[in-house]
Amino acid sequence: MSSAVISRRGVDRLRAGHPWIYRSDVLSCDGQPGDLVRVLTERDRPLGWAFWSGASQISLRMVLDATRESGDSLNERKLFADRLERAIEYRAVLAIDATACRLVHGEADRLPALIVDRYADWLVVQTLSQGMDRRLPMIVELLVEIAKPRGILARNDPKVRRLEGLDEKVEVVYGEVPETIEVSEGRIRHLVDVRHGQKTGLFLDQVENHAAAVRYARGAALDAFSYLGGFALQIAPHCERVITLDSSAPGVAATREAAQRNGITNLDAREGNVFDELRELEIARERFHTIVLDPPAFARNRAAVERAAAGYKEINLRALKLLEPGGHLVTCSCSYNVDEALFAAIVEEAAADARVAVALVEKRMQARDHPVLVGVPETHYLKCFILRKLA
Ligand code: SAH
Repeated sequence: MSSAVISRRGVDRLRAGHPWIYRSDVLSCDGQPGDLVRVLTERDRPLGWAFWSGASQISLRMVLDATRESGDSLNERKLFADRLERAIEYRAVLAIDATACRLVHGEADRLPALIVDRYADWLVVQTLSQGMDRRLPMIVELLVEIAKPRGILARNDPKVRRLEGLDEKVEVVYGEVPETIEVSEGRIRHLVDVRHGQKTGLFLDQVENHAAAVRYARGAALDAFSYLGGFALQIAPHCERVITLDSSAPGVAATREAAQRNGITNLDAREGNVFDELRELEIARERFHTIVLDPPAFARNRAAVERAAAGYKEINLRALKLLEPGGHLVTCSCSYNVDEALFAAIVEEAAADARVAVALVEKRMQARDHPVLVGVPETHYLKCFILRKLA
């Protein structure tokens, strides 16, 4: 059995609850890329088991702590079967009102670098590290036993795989997977392209925020950075009219098509750059009772935080100006480099600069099927604040 010896700093990190060891904290490792290795202190004390990556800066991803260890060997299949079962059972408890949801959220389900999303009777998996990727056949077998899907797609095209030296490929790994899958989210029916859509097809992490937005939605509404109309389609029945804004032409076309399919006639899907369009709407003296801002991650790394903050501030400032007194702004950030406190500070500055008084009504995050692993701030990536503009 191969093993890895880690530094004092690495040990402290593990003890603080973080499941990753960086390359600079690995003193030696005799494992092959993707092996499950024993993790040891410099004094040979066992710390547990981890996947070894031969390429990534995240060299070890813990799978099991020493306290739960049962001797020198590990029944991997049983461990994975148990973890998958628990993860899937937990989603049933959540009772999220949709036939699509995340079944496995990587580290937060103690299945590092594994994503499994359910779309009706089909599953989409992503194996984002060497260790998980090598075990894809076993994971597929277990998922077939546990979840009994009609087909499984491996949507292995996220760029993070490059950091692991893994190629990008999309392939059916079990059964058959149709071009589009119909799923419901509340009263709305989506046709999801699981092969080409963003993420695995839908922004499942926003599903509960879509439902939260419905509680405040009324009057004239604006859904900025709308993608397929995730927020807009849900709020439209509660509003006089909804404008959606997105720079992606296929996204805009799909939003129109979805509105039609769902019998929504008060939705105006527009293609454009939100930064420009917000300015245009201000010049045209348009006003809204409900505004959603759900931009892509502006800060993809730490160096980009300052520029990202300026971007977030600008759109929030403009949105607050466009909002009617008494109206609500649902504002999101999915950059994990911009934490909740910083995002709150940005929104506060935007309100001060816009000279408007706002009340914070709800502080939300990613949906409960994408849980945050305590001790790992990176896993709390999505922030969603609901604000009310005071008269
Ligand atoms: N609100 C959606 C998810 C939005 S993802 C949901 O709940 O499902 C972010 C979207 O922003 C993408 O569709 C992308 O095309 C769009 N986008 C990125 N930069 C943009 C810009 N400057 N102007 C308009 N849209 C932009």
